Amino acid sequence: MTTASVAPRVFVTGASIAGPALARWLHEAGFRVTLLERSAQPRQAGQNIDVRGLGREVLRRMGLEEAVMANLTGEAGTRFVRGSGAPYAVFPRQVGEDGPTAEIEILRGVMADLVLDQVPDGVERRFGDFVVAATQDPDGVDVRLDSGAEERYDLLLVAEGRSSRTRRLLFEGETSHRDRGVTITYGTIERTDADTDFWDWFTASGGRVASTRPDNVGTTRASLSFVSDDRGFETAPVAQQLAALRRTYQGAGWITERILDGFEARPDEFYVQRMEQVVVSSWSEGRVALVGDAAWGSGPTGMGTTLALVGAHVLAGELARERERGDVAAAFTRYERLLRRYVDSSQGLPPGGARILHPSTRLGVRLLQAVHRVAAWGPVRTRAQKTLLTSAKGEPELPDYRLPSAVED
Ligand SMILES: Cc1cc2nc3c(=O)[nH]c(=O)nc-3n(C[C@H](O)[C@H](O)[C@H](O)COP(=O)(O)OP(=O)(O)OC[C@H]3O[C@@H](n4cnc5c(N)ncnc54)[C@H](O)[C@@H]3O)c2cc1C
Repeated sequence: MTTASVAPRVFVTGASIAGPALARWLHEAGFRVTLLERSAQPRQAGQNIDVRGLGREVLRRMGLEEAVMANLTGEAGTRFVRGSGAPYAVFPRQVGEDGPTAEIEILRGVMADLVLDQVPDGVERRFGDFVVAATQDPDGVDVRLDSGAEERYDLLLVAEGRSSRTRRLLFEGETSHRDRGVTITYGTIERTDADTDFWDWFTASGGRVASTRPDNVGTTRASLSFVSDDRGFETAPVAQQLAALRRTYQGAGWITERILDGFEARPDEFYVQRMEQVVVSSWSEGRVALVGDAAWGSGPTGMGTTLALVGAHVLAGELARERERGDVAAAFTRYERLLRRYVDSSQGLPPGGARILHPSTRLGVRLLQAVHRVAAWGPVRTRAQKTLLTSAKGEPELPDYRLPSAVED
């Protein structure tokens, strides 16, 4: 971004949600964009993701709202169930209001495809490579890739997700992790006639939770999460993880045995995540900026995709505003000023955080059930959802970043 006449070259790393969205907006604003993904091809994995609040406005601006609404998982709401499967607290999906089930629930792979499909042909896409070294000076960033290629860009924008390698290379000193003391495992299991269109959530004692959710491809998405201070589980081989999960869920009740059988039947779709949030004290440094989970991996709040969409839109919009003047620092400063409060409040969890959702004793389970019942009671449900869920807190006023020609249309 040194001269007005030459289109600035931007390297965007990570092609899930934030990266492709950013690449598309930047290309539209006249930047020359290269989009790099570490995997050999687009990644299809993942379960239901939510788009909440301001994320929907960004979908609208992307022209994606209709396509997204046509591909929802069909989740009818959230039910907290007893060991028998009988629901004792129900939060139906409501149009115009996000509850535990957001208005927009979509499979991550479907959403990623929709966003990636929007990346214009003029964006160079590369798969199967990643940055191994990066150094910057006031005019640009030199990167070396795993393939051995050495390239120079005007800007490096990192959208590599929560465990971003490039962030670790360049922002290690600014990064901290908030561990929530809970491990969560996901998998796809066979759908049976007993499965409904609800997200069914079961709390067992011993810090164990199980849940199942519908999808729109004929299977059921399940998760088992449990309190644990031992981080060795995440890096163990899948067979060992599944065996340990069996031991942990012994006697837990509900359909946990079926979920475990289902995980074992499809080990390729089984994966593990630590409930952890990434906090980076500054999202940019010189000519490098972070966006999406790489900047603020928001852990278990259900806001990751919303923040990625909003973040990509604002970052691209602010860079576009500075496209002629080339004041990258001003663009990065406004990007962070506009979003920091929103991101911070989205990273907040209800008092007690993830552990309060995983009580250790039977009494704790009963108390939590009482809270669920009160929160689901019609007259207080809306207020409870607003207090306990984070989607609308700290939402910024989204500037109108449309190019002058687009505004006239
Ligand atoms: C495979 C997968 C499954 C997921 N499943 C769920 C889920 O079930 N529920 C949920 O709430 N969220 C899930 N997420 C996270 C969710 O997509 C994000 O929270 C949110 O959409 C923000 O997206 P993001 O683009 O910032 O980061 P991510 O979606 O994490 O994407 C980061 C992308 O960068 C790529 N990448 C990583 N390192 C490099 C590198 N060094 N160079 C280049 N590319 C790199 C990754 O392969 C990935 O494509 C999943 C993410 C992935 C990648």
